[in-house]
Amino acid sequence: MASEKEAALAAVPSDSPTIFDKIINKEIPSKVVYEDDKVLAFRDISPQAPTHILIIPKVKDGLTGLSKAEERHFEILGRLLYTAKLVAKQEGLDDGFRVVINDGPNGCQSVYHLHIHLIGGRQMNWPPG
Ligand code: ADP
Repeated sequence: MASEKEAALAAVPSDSPTIFDKIINKEIPSKVVYEDDKVLAFRDISPQAPTHILIIPKVKDGLTGLSKAEERHFEILGRLLYTAKLVAKQEGLDDGFRVVINDGPNGCQSVYHLHIHLIGGRQMNWPPG
């Protein structure tokens, strides 16, 4: 299987539907931990820590990645970050956690539908790789 970096470098940035649309539409299964009318949070299929959850907008609206954010996205960006906090609490990450947004090839982004990684349950290191 390709490494995360290889998968990210092979990914072509585009506004086309991604695998996350199929997760939103329940066409493929996922382990949902939080859902409302605007946001979905589900467990990453390849967890990098005991807790690894992806938080995504249900409507992409051009947000292939954070670098595509516009003023019209203020509300959804705030909701995504606030959902990270809610889910961290729900998951019992009381000793801390990390949120990550990978953007573009250098950021190792492989799925072009904005998502926040919520990672926790172990001691993190710095700097990230
Ligand atoms: P990277 O692959 O380098 O982490 P991204 O930041 O774009 O890049 O993250 C995409 C994430 O989506 C990865 O962590 C990957 O494991 C996850 N993922 C891909 N397909 C699925 C799926 N079907 N269900 C849950 N998570 C998925």
